[in-house]
Amino acid sequence: MANVHQFEVVVVGAGGAGLMAALYASRGAKTAVISKLYPTRSHTGTAQGGISAALGNYEEDKPEWHTYDTVKGSDYLGDQDAIEFMCEEAIEAVIELEHMGLPFDRTPEGRIAQRPFGGHTNNETGKPVRRAAHAADRTGHMILQTLYQQCLKNKVNFFDEFQILDFLVTDGKTAGVVAVELATGELHTFHAKAVIFATGGHGRIFEVTSNCYAYTGDGLAVLLRQGIPLEDMEFFQFHPTGIFKLGILITEGVRGEGGVLINGVGDRFMTKYAPSVKDLASRDVVSRAIYTEIREGRGVNGKNYIHLDVRPESVNKYAAIDGRTNLDGSAYTITGTQLLAKLPDIIDFCRVYLGVDPVTQMMPIQPTAHYSMGGIPTNKFGEVVIDSNNTPFPGLYAAGECACVSVHGANRLGTNSLLDLVVFGKHAGLKAAEFAQQADYQKLPSNPEAGALFQVEALRTGSGQENAFEINAEMKTIMFDDVGVYRTEKGMKEALEKVWALQERFKHVKVTDTGKIFNTELLSAWELGNMLEVAEVITESALNRQESRGGHSREDYPQRDDKNWLKHTLAWKKDGKVVIDYKPVTITKYQPKARVY
Ligand SMILES: Cc1cc2nc3c(=O)[nH]c(=O)nc-3n(C[C@H](O)[C@H](O)[C@H](O)COP(=O)(O)OP(=O)(O)OC[C@H]3O[C@@H](n4cnc5c(N)ncnc54)[C@H](O)[C@@H]3O)c2cc1C
Repeated sequence: MANVHQFEVVVVGAGGAGLMAALYASRGAKTAVISKLYPTRSHTGTAQGGISAALGNYEEDKPEWHTYDTVKGSDYLGDQDAIEFMCEEAIEAVIELEHMGLPFDRTPEGRIAQRPFGGHTNNETGKPVRRAAHAADRTGHMILQTLYQQCLKNKVNFFDEFQILDFLVTDGKTAGVVAVELATGELHTFHAKAVIFATGGHGRIFEVTSNCYAYTGDGLAVLLRQGIPLEDMEFFQFHPTGIFKLGILITEGVRGEGGVLINGVGDRFMTKYAPSVKDLASRDVVSRAIYTEIREGRGVNGKNYIHLDVRPESVNKYAAIDGRTNLDGSAYTITGTQLLAKLPDIIDFCRVYLGVDPVTQMMPIQPTAHYSMGGIPTNKFGEVVIDSNNTPFPGLYAAGECACVSVHGANRLGTNSLLDLVVFGKHAGLKAAEFAQQADYQKLPSNPEAGALFQVEALRTGSGQENAFEINAEMKTIMFDDVGVYRTEKGMKEALEKVWALQERFKHVKVTDTGKIFNTELLSAWELGNMLEVAEVITESALNRQESRGGHSREDYPQRDDKNWLKHTLAWKKDGKVVIDYKPVTITKYQPKARVY
């Protein structure tokens, strides 16, 4: 075995969660980060709107309000101990980022600037509160750059453009991972005491998505193959405002700044679906409203889209109707120049990709697959827990979008993901280093690369009767149409049959590129295998949950059913089949209440 490396802690993924974990782990243990992308190309870099913390830089705000909003936003499926922990830690986490050098926008007094976002409220008045700390509309980019610089400063070891294919287990304990070096095609074994998964999301299984090409659920599929369950996979968030057909995200911050949604007949329809919070209702509520408008024939020009209007004259008109004021009580207004300063990237995207100028024209938008609430089950210290009793798997950790703590429950509030990354990334890093300090290395399996090689060889030697691109396209359409914003038993049963058929066809794929250097055909095919596994688990979990809650909306079971379904789903893949069990939701202070829109 030529390429064997030994690190006490190995972090898989170099997004916000991975870098934060690496930073903290590296202070107590010899740490390496493995990333299939160059770190600053990770999806965290595309996050626009902001990171939440009850800093109260403009008006009163408290971690308790942030906690309650998150519990409510989660449709009561979030674990309240973990939510409380995250919201309490939020203030310190954001100030830590500031001290690391993150260039936040500023208030006139020089404090960190904050903007309103969906679901962020003053719990006493019910009015929106400015809780999203931001650096223009490139907050994630700034977080990623800042954390990467800190990791370099702390001499974290980076293996950039290495893609992990397998997780190694010895006697039920973590032993390491196997990765392929993209530039050479060589396999490398990383022998580790602790491994932290921070591999991000899997929105690429859907046809229209805001997610980057790398979001193929690798971490989830790799662990699923090693007998680790996935939690609450039926809960996938569709963001209401993706650019029509392209799916590219238009941040909720646009509506935070006063943008409104307008249907094909010129109505501001959110007043009907969420009379109090209107355009800033939770994402699941707004996505369903848009779908309903389109289905009832009120899309623009009879097509599958509606308009997002942030033209200053419209913002000012609707702000006056809503009675929105500035902090000094004067009427809220915005000019084209202010809009350009607050949302430079969004305005650029629309000009470049759509030929539409948001300062003078409305943007065509449709809901886009955005964020996975479900993932690898963990506790609030980032330890992966593998059953209904929350038993930790020795040496295995997860953080970020690939993990399910669960702080987002059935629906994530905007800006809570960036917060999740830094808070739980930090704790996963700390715990992994602590574990590594007292644990020994497990013995490596006698042929550690066998599992990875087997998977790759299957793709090289398939019969070639099937084409990976066609399978990929079919999967995306099935998942978007039948396991998307609205779901029914009939649609999902058909989807499941089709996903199984695609999995069968996938066995006959043959990769034609026999080269070793940057063999993207081979790795895309391997990623397709992961997406098919994840799609199956999502569909089975969604079919199983006979209620509607947060992002999971069943037309045949339209009500939330706390009596039978206030519980987390755990799904394993055993003998080729998905097996489902449950675990209780942790409720501390807040008993479930009906949702008020
Ligand atoms: C367009 C967009 C805008 C968003 N805006 C916001 C926002 O304003 N506020 C907010 O709170 N949230 C936002 N989100 C959500 C949030 O940005 C993401 O959930 C979060 O950044 C994910 O971070 P992460 O560290 O978990 O994963 P990522 O940043 O995606 O990093 C994943 C890492 O895993 C690595 N990886 C994956 N598979 C492998 C493998 N097999 N081998 C090796 N490495 C691997 C990748 O190379 C990458 O480095 C947004 C999301 C999108 C898509």
